[in-house]
Amino acid sequence: MFDRPDKPTRSYKNFRHFYLNRFFSNKDIIIEKMEKGIYVCFCCNGHKKVKDHTQRDVYEGLKYADYITCESCNGTGELPKSLIMELYKEEVEDFKAKVEIYRKKLALYKSIKKKLTDEEIYYIDYGRLQPDSKTSNSN
Ligand SMILES: [Zn+2]
Repeated sequence: MFDRPDKPTRSYKNFRHFYLNRFFSNKDIIIEKMEKGIYVCFCCNGHKKVKDHTQRDVYEGLKYADYITCESCNGTGELPKSLIMELYKEEVEDFKAKVEIYRKKLALYKSIKKKLTDEEIYYIDYGRLQPDSKTSNSN
């Protein structure tokens, strides 16, 4: 297929959005704490303990697994803002890298498209001749 490359989309608009999107419930409490400078651990949701994933059962999943101390926050239920900021920056860098690849692909796509006729592009896309085959280059 000769398709225009997909433009990457940013999954987080800012640090706050990045952090809050890691929680599925109790967002009001999370926001309230965040405004006081407390960042709840998103691995244990501030519960300090998590299910032991090494005890995962094929049928029951983690239903009967024991709780163990959360390794991300060392059982404090909180994470330092600097750590979350680091993760956020990694995410931003990752997005920038994707944009850079997209720009290169787009330049290549445009360069190739300029050189091909509609008939040639149709052949690349479908592997057969265009039904109403024209020989002129309409690009
Ligand atoms: Zn934790």
